[in-house]
Amino acid sequence: MRIDVKDSKGRSLYGVVVNPERPPAVVKSPLEEAGPLALDWDRAIDDTHHLRRCPVCGCEDLYVRKEAPHVTLFALLLIAAVAMMLLFGLGQVVWAIAVLVVVVLVDLAVFFFAQRILVCYRCLTEYRQVPIRRGHAGFDRQIAGKYRRG
Ligand SMILES: [Zn+2]
Repeated sequence: MRIDVKDSKGRSLYGVVVNPERPPAVVKSPLEEAGPLALDWDRAIDDTHHLRRCPVCGCEDLYVRKEAPHVTLFALLLIAAVAMMLLFGLGQVVWAIAVLVVVVLVDLAVFFFAQRILVCYRCLTEYRQVPIRRGHAGFDRQIAGKYRRG
């Protein structure tokens, strides 16, 4: 399991890899100023090895997010848009539609093969390489608002 610790604004601080079979109570932070990170594993993992609460802050609200390479997709869309405009301008409608089909296929591939990660609503810590229950809820604006207000 990879744990990516965030600051209060959601910026990545550092990541640590822990063995969920023998979860450590404390991990050393690679940042000298951050100090050691205490992890509370009490009732954090259920019988089916699913994470049900955040070991960093103890919050029981976690959501699932798909991790897509945003910058790459944006660049692909930009290139596709320019290519389509050029192809339409040159009267190459079939090739312009082919570009559109390729973009749709890449988008579908990213949707189906993107890694799913768990994110804590309170401390924004991200958990990768963890088993995630089928149907685990995604981001909910109301729950997030509850933690933003305090
Ligand atoms: Zn948390």
